[in-house]
Amino acid sequence: MTVEAVLRVGPLPISGQKVILRPLTGVEDQLLLEARDNNVSLVLALLNRLARLQDHGTSDIGTHESWDWLATTDLDVLILRLRQAVLGDSIRADVSCGAAGCNQRIDISFGVDEYIAHHIPVLVPEDDRDWSVESAEEPGWFRLLEGQVNHKAGIEGESAGSSTPQPPPTPLNHRSGQKDEVFFRIPTAADQLAVAGLPDPAEALVQRCVRPALLDAGKRLQVETAMESMAPALSNELIGACPECGAEAHIYFDVRDYCLSELRQYAAFIYEDIDILARRYHWTEADILAMPRNRRMIYAELARQEGGQ
Ligand SMILES: [Zn+2]
Repeated sequence: MTVEAVLRVGPLPISGQKVILRPLTGVEDQLLLEARDNNVSLVLALLNRLARLQDHGTSDIGTHESWDWLATTDLDVLILRLRQAVLGDSIRADVSCGAAGCNQRIDISFGVDEYIAHHIPVLVPEDDRDWSVESAEEPGWFRLLEGQVNHKAGIEGESAGSSTPQPPPTPLNHRSGQKDEVFFRIPTAADQLAVAGLPDPAEALVQRCVRPALLDAGKRLQVETAMESMAPALSNELIGACPECGAEAHIYFDVRDYCLSELRQYAAFIYEDIDILARRYHWTEADILAMPRNRRMIYAELARQEGGQ
C-alpha cells in the first residue's frame, strides 16, 4: 500500500534543494477550509506542516522550519507537485468562447510534469540579448552586465543541483565599480508576503529585488528579462482555440490559486468524515484529523457503506 508514502520533490529549479512532503491529513484539510485566501501565507503554513529538506538529517517530518526563503518559482513547483500527488497529473481549465454568439466551452488541459518541464530556467539565447549576469559579492544578488557575450561555450547555465541560484558562467567584459551598475535578486516567498496587499505589489517587488529600483526603460527590461529567464513565473496565460469557431481563448493560470482551490474542494468532506468515523469507531476528533487523508477516506467510505443507503 502506497497511500502514506512520502512525496519526494526536487531538485527544485532555483534552490536546487530536494524536499520531502508527507501526506496530507485532516489538519491540513482544516487549514485549507478555514483559510480565507489562496495567499502565500497559506502555502507557507502548509509547507511548515508537510515539508522538510531531504538533506536535513533525521529531524522529524513536519518540523516547523520556515520556508519563506524559497524562490516563488520553487514554491509554485512544490504546490504543483502536491496537487499532482493528491489529484493526478492532468490539469484542466475551461472558459467560454468570447466570440460573438458562440459561447462554446473551450477546454485547455495539460500535465503537471510537462508544465514544470516547460518552465525550467533557460537563459535567453545569447544572440538575442545584449546583457549577461554574474554573481555579485552580496550573497543571493546578481550583477547585470551590459554588452553581448563574446565567448561560445557554457552559456546554458544549469541552475539545478546547487544551493543558490547560479548565473551562467560569464568570464567577460566585467567592469567592476561602475556607477550605473544594476543589481538584482530572485524574488522569494518572503518578498511576496511583504508586498501582498500593497497598492502596487509588482512595483513594490522591484523596489525590494532590484538596485537601483529606478531604472530607465531599457535597463528595466533587461533586468526583468534576466530575472524571468533565471526564475520563470509558473503562473501564466494559457492559450487555447475554440473547437466551434476557432477563436483564440486566453486563460490566466494562477498556480497557487488553482491548486489550493482544488485541494480545498477535495478537503470539503473532512467534517462529514469526522462525524461518520466518530460515530462508527468512537475515535476522537484529534485521532481522525491526524490520519493520512487517503486512509481516513477509505474508512469513511467503508462506514458509509456499512451504514446502508
Ligand atoms: Zn467559439
